[in-house]
Amino acid sequence: MKVIIHGGFFSESATNQETKKAKQDALAEIVTKAHQFLASHTALETVVYAVSLLEDNELFNAGIGSQIQSDGKVRLSAALMDGHTQKFSGVINLEDVKNPIAVAQQLLDYDDRVLSGEGALTFARSNGFDYFNPITEQRQAEYQAKINQQGRKGTVGCVALDAEGNLAAATSTGGKGFEIPCRVSDSATVAGNFANNFAGISCTGVGEDIVSGALAAKIVTRVTDGFTLQAACDKSFTELKPFDGFAGVIGITTAGEIYHCDSHPYMVWASFDVNLQVFN
Ligand code: ASP
Repeated sequence: MKVIIHGGFFSESATNQETKKAKQDALAEIVTKAHQFLASHTALETVVYAVSLLEDNELFNAGIGSQIQSDGKVRLSAALMDGHTQKFSGVINLEDVKNPIAVAQQLLDYDDRVLSGEGALTFARSNGFDYFNPITEQRQAEYQAKINQQGRKGTVGCVALDAEGNLAAATSTGGKGFEIPCRVSDSATVAGNFANNFAGISCTGVGEDIVSGALAAKIVTRVTDGFTLQAACDKSFTELKPFDGFAGVIGITTAGEIYHCDSHPYMVWASFDVNLQVFN
């Protein structure tokens, strides 16, 4: 049983040191809870549980506390993939719900498993997800001041390997902030979130770079074809270099490898294998 989570990137500055510590503490608490949860739940249930906790924490750019798009609205994207069944489900640019990852989970049972905008909202409401405004005072102030135009990051994700040897991955984001309304992030695509019976990957970083690198699906495919997770990540990150791709990933393989890799510093993540580890 293994679990790894991330809280995306954040910009490093003196004023952010406190946030960094708070994020590390939150990640340590959430990954510990997720590891306990995993003892009696599947990998799929665990990634949804962990990502919901991350969405509920205002420090992270997912669920409550998400970045605001250039028209003043928050649109959430989230996806999960069950490595065992290889089913992927997700929501793109969903407004006014608390936990987009839970909506994505509901979609897993349907033939039409990725919904966007209005359709995703109608689906959420008809499945019991009530109105929720995820805009926090801080995000509103940031929006007013337009201080995060450079794309502060903070997407969340989780990959888990359960006692049965099954993997799952989940990723949730509020996007990059100040984007053109309805821009599609990588998070609810197979570039940002992918799992099969060999490996599971969740990404963060610049969505367009992650899509250009087909990152999560590519790393998982390489592991499937015999690469170690570390070698698969290293090769895939080398391929981001020609276009200066900005990305970070967390991953687990069924062989038990657990790994984190990033192209730039200041990604926060934590894992629970036999012991808790928190890094940034
Ligand atoms: N990947 C997300 C996006 O481009 C942002 C992030 O990971 O912080 O929307």
